[in-house]
Amino acid sequence: MPFKQNVYEKALYKEPAPIRDSEHPFQAMIDRFDIAAKILELDPGFYEYLVTPARVHITAIPVVMDDGRIKLFEGYRVIHNEILGPSKGGIRYAPDVNVNEVKALAAWMTWKCAIVNVPFGGAKGGVVCDPANMSPGELERLTRRYTANLLDVFGPDKDIPAPDMNTNAQIMAWIVDTYSMHTRNSSTAVVTGKPIILGGSLGRVEATGRGVMSVTLSAMEKIGMRPGQSTVAVQGFGNVGSIAAKLLAEKGCKIVAVSDVTGGYYNENGFDVEDLIRYSEANKRSLAGYPEAQEISNEELLTLDVDVLVPAAKEDQITSANAPDIKAKIIAEGANGPTTPAADRVLDENGVLVVPDILANAGGVTVSYFEWVQDRQGYFWTLERVNKRLDRMMKTAFDNVYNASEQYGVPLRAASYVLAVDKVASALKLRGIYA
Ligand code: GLU
Repeated sequence: MPFKQNVYEKALYKEPAPIRDSEHPFQAMIDRFDIAAKILELDPGFYEYLVTPARVHITAIPVVMDDGRIKLFEGYRVIHNEILGPSKGGIRYAPDVNVNEVKALAAWMTWKCAIVNVPFGGAKGGVVCDPANMSPGELERLTRRYTANLLDVFGPDKDIPAPDMNTNAQIMAWIVDTYSMHTRNSSTAVVTGKPIILGGSLGRVEATGRGVMSVTLSAMEKIGMRPGQSTVAVQGFGNVGSIAAKLLAEKGCKIVAVSDVTGGYYNENGFDVEDLIRYSEANKRSLAGYPEAQEISNEELLTLDVDVLVPAAKEDQITSANAPDIKAKIIAEGANGPTTPAADRVLDENGVLVVPDILANAGGVTVSYFEWVQDRQGYFWTLERVNKRLDRMMKTAFDNVYNASEQYGVPLRAASYVLAVDKVASALKLRGIYA
């Protein structure tokens, strides 16, 4: 779709934005923020305030490993912003996680919560570790010590973690327990994404994938694409990718390609996604060796001739190098930051409708909010109620972003940032600067 505004020239660059891929996720966040700041004519003081993380915690985590050695891990918790409410965001365990990435992810949480109208600020945590090569005991000790180190940071009214890459409901249960032991009370609302029996919400596990499905259908509707006649490729087969694939298949889409760390898998007739999920679960979460699939590379998956592409793996997958070859008409970003700013420009020029991460994957934090509300009320909702409210909030958020995109004549990503930044800036204006 041709946009009225050339957002790339409107950005706050001294020179017109060069075609380059960001070296750092935080810079990628700022590049998008700049576009919104320019459109909103944001006051320079507000600009500084809103890009700067409120607090960056870096903590050393000693863990006694199973062989008796003491190993030190580095952990992070970045509180980006608390203007709209307590800060909210997941914790990721990964060998390559770093503070720059966590800063970007924390800021994205701020914008995400603002877009779906959830009363939270943004935060994110990370621990540099390789969970695939750690025993459950080692992971438990790591999680408990990370929680103990950050005890003053976390709290149901302060900062509320959740699962992210390589963390899950069990890890959230250890956080609840450690936190509750220290505070001498039962604080289930200190994290979301917990096991149901400990105050988790029905539908939370599927929520991010469900939200991706919901915005994909909304985007299809806008361009007159019918689910029953469309093909989809999904990069990443973790919690987000597998559920998005399953739910899109239920709506009639043909899922012709999926991938995980072992590579890409293609079937022109469409996969039975439930069978793929069963296979992956029985195979230590790997799709390797799945019968009736042609093996393809990750790069091939991204540039397949499909109607919809769902990047649901990690950052910086769609770059200026492969964006020109992308054939999908819709990209729904299940992952955080899968597209670089340089690729944005190419995709926009090629008329690809990109539903950006801070909108497309906001279903997770939306149901996290429902979980927090249920914990605080001690009254739990049916799955039907959770899903209905989630669908409604995602649809409203999509429509708001789409309308802003038309109003400002900018792509959906720029429109999302405009809405989010405007909302947080308006709240900041009302609260003022405490001196
Ligand atoms: N980690 C998820 C995200 O990136 C969920 C965060 C949450 O529920 O707090 O949106």
